[in-house]
Parts: sequence; C-alpha cells; structure tokens
Amino acid sequence: MKTNLDLGYLIKNSDVVRQLKADLSMAHWLLFQKMPENLLDIFGEYHNCYSREEASGWEYEVVERTLDEAETFDRYSSKEAYCPLCDGGSKGPTGGGYKHPKGLRRHLSGLGGGDGCPVIKILFARARSCWKEALESEEASAQAELLIRKKSEIHYRLTPKGLPVLFDWPRGFARSRNPDQLRWAEDRLSGLGFVIALGGNIKSYINEFDDRTVYADPRSPNSINFEVFWKPVSDRSNYSRSERSFKILDRWKHDLKGKYEDRVFGKKWR
Ligand SMILES: [Zn+2]
Repeated sequence: MKTNLDLGYLIKNSDVVRQLKADLSMAHWLLFQKMPENLLDIFGEYHNCYSREEASGWEYEVVERTLDEAETFDRYSSKEAYCPLCDGGSKGPTGGGYKHPKGLRRHLSGLGGGDGCPVIKILFARARSCWKEALESEEASAQAELLIRKKSEIHYRLTPKGLPVLFDWPRGFARSRNPDQLRWAEDRLSGLGFVIALGGNIKSYINEFDDRTVYADPRSPNSINFEVFWKPVSDRSNYSRSERSFKILDRWKHDLKGKYEDRVFGKKWR
C-alpha cells in the first residue's frame, strides 16, 4: 500500500512535487520577510554569483553583514548577542546570547562545531541549488583547460620521483618568469654544469655528482631553487625527500660556481 509520503510515489506524481515546491517557496518567502531589512539586499545577491570565488565571497559577506546587524549587550563582562536571524542563543548551561563576534560567527557560518543557524542553512541551500549549474560548468571548463594544458604544455621534473608539474603549478603560482627570463635562467644553469633535458613534454635541469644529484627549478622570478638528493634514490618509496634545498638569487654575480658548490656540499646551504 502506497502512502503519500512514499518517495517513489512523490517523485512519480509530479503534481505533488510541484505543489510541495510551491509551498516551500512560499514558506521561504514568508521566512525572509521577517529578516532584518538591512540584510535583504545582500541575501538576494546570490543571483549575481557566477563562479566559486564569487559564491564563497557572498557567503562570507552574508555572515559578516549579519554580525554587524546583531544587537550586542554586556553579560558577565563580555559582549554577547542573539542571532538576528533565528533569535537563537547559547546552548551552554548559563544561557544568554552568543559571544560576539566569535561565537555568533561560528553559529552563522556553521564552522568550528556547534549548532548552525537554520535560517542561514536555508539561505545557503537555496543559493547553492541556484549556483549548481554555473559552478558545475565552471569546474568542467577548468578541468578541460587543464587536460589540454597537460597534453600540450611542457612539464617540469623537479625531483627524481615526483610528478612533473606545469610552469605555473601550484595553481596561482602566477609570478613565473617570462620566456626571456627563463632563457636567462637556463643559461645560468648551463654555466653551473646543469644538463637541460627535454623528453616528450617533460623538461628537467639536473646536475650529477658521484654521490648526489641536484635538481633545479628556474620557474620563479628573482632566484633559482635547488634540491639535492643522495644517490641512489630509494626504490622503496614513491616519494624521495631532498637532502637539502637552497636558492641562488638572480642578483648574485660573483663566484657563482663557488657559491653553488658550497651549498651543494654543505659548507653553506642557506
Ligand atoms: Zn541563527
């Protein structure tokens, strides 16, 4: 026997679903009518978020603006406030409001344990369902772009066993050398005895010694970074740790080879 609460029945019966959605929308509308007037503009702003960054910026803004809206009062020599959205307060033994701003921020953001604000939960859930499509397509195009870059762009091998990385990895490593600056750094590495190898789309800068290997990373501006690995590199681990790392600044001009070898052989390595 099917009841009206049976999920399969509800899903199949689109009239019921439509009615429930309409009822829910009305309930939300009534709820948000009761919210502080100063917050209604920011609450509605989620319609204008088209990327993950804008979305999390909006969530942050909602919490901070709500904190500003809270009416604080002094209690036990600290500042407290009830939540201006749900009227909630501390669930602790002494009752009262939330500590302002820390405790109330925790309640509003839902971060750091404790109860989350039910009104914010409804608001964020509405926003997230509105963003779902935009965020999914943003994610999909970022993934597609990364795949294309992985196939076509040069990757840099910076350690014996680590995966080769793109020129601007990690993401946001925006301050990389331009092509002229990279050529300059590569000339500097050749002068120090480095072999610059390009196999497929993987590039490496390696300087071998009898008992150690040095990998260089010339991508960042102003200096070249070096990592020294003992030989042989252990087969047991997928990851090898460097013995030491150091950098050589672009502005250093004199006795570069001497400075480099001092650092490789440990006389000086900072
Ligand atoms: Zn609340």
